Amino acid sequence: MVTRDTPWPDGTPCWVDLGTDDIQKAISFYSSQFGWEIQPGGPEVGGYSIAHQDGRIVAAVSPKMGAPGAPSAWTTYLATDDVDATAAKIKGAGGQLLAEPMDVMEEGRMAVAMDPAGAVFGLVTGLVQPYSRGWVRLRSADPADPPRIDVAHLRHPDDMRRMIEATLLARAISRTAPLAGLADGAELAPGPSIGDDDTGAIAASIASRVDTYHHPAGTCSMGPDPGTGAVVDARGRVHGIERLYVADASIMPAIPSANTNLPTIMIAERIASWLAAHGDQP
Ligand SMILES: Cc1cc2nc3c(=O)[nH]c(=O)nc-3n(C[C@H](O)[C@H](O)[C@H](O)COP(=O)(O)OP(=O)(O)OC[C@H]3O[C@@H](n4cnc5c(N)ncnc54)[C@H](O)[C@@H]3O)c2cc1C
Repeated sequence: MVTRDTPWPDGTPCWVDLGTDDIQKAISFYSSQFGWEIQPGGPEVGGYSIAHQDGRIVAAVSPKMGAPGAPSAWTTYLATDDVDATAAKIKGAGGQLLAEPMDVMEEGRMAVAMDPAGAVFGLVTGLVQPYSRGWVRLRSADPADPPRIDVAHLRHPDDMRRMIEATLLARAISRTAPLAGLADGAELAPGPSIGDDDTGAIAASIASRVDTYHHPAGTCSMGPDPGTGAVVDARGRVHGIERLYVADASIMPAIPSANTNLPTIMIAERIASWLAAHGDQP
């Protein structure tokens, strides 16, 4: 990438570099990921360090330029045959220059700019301990038929109450330094027209955007007493049916406040090793 024998057409992505606070760490990370060879740039080039792969230039890693407090980020450069004229046009169109046009040794000129929309960031709130309970049911006796699923998002009033609380907390965080200094655009959701005390409108905004963490669990939950809804016992044996075991996320007796993949593997390993050691013994 980024080597070419003919000029880059105007507006084409022509270069990428990473602006970072910890250049040594970045060099060692990207070298180990992709085998890039990166010669740390000296003070004469402001620490700008070019990365090569298989003898070809691929990118650069550099001390951060631009707004203080801005996060480390990759910058994509677009080609222009007149940096200064483009920089003036950017300002005229409501963009900002984070670095004014400057010479890059003998290579050419560059500037760093931000478009008028800036960048979008999200504070995502979520309930990891919902009170709402959904269900999975068989549609028919045919195992090839997809099951019927009701995820019951936010059906329990306390779930919505806690999501509203979380949304207000996210708002409060975004209005507090240092985030407040970085965020000068309009809030995307619930949106600037909805006040903190308009909980009805906040709830409607939450309901229209709610999504899942993809961690369904507990539809065949483990427990000693089938009378209380437990489907399997402590070894994954289905209550009331001989020689039938379940060993997956469905037997979790409660929804974990964490990712479900590793606990599922742990359940499967535990029940498999138990069966291997003891067979189908009670
Ligand atoms: C989009 C997404 C992203 C996720 N990201 C993460 C994450 O980043 N970290 C994390 O910890 N967890 C994550 N999870 C959750 C995690 O993947 C699940 O909790 C975990 O895979 C559950 O394991 P399981 O064995 O219970 O079910 P599954 O992994 O769903 O396994 C069920 C298996 O049964 C098979 N099957 C279904 N019907 C039949 C049938 N009739 N006959 C035979 N086989 C059948 C399916 O093909 C599947 O292989 C994610 C889930 C999703 C959907």
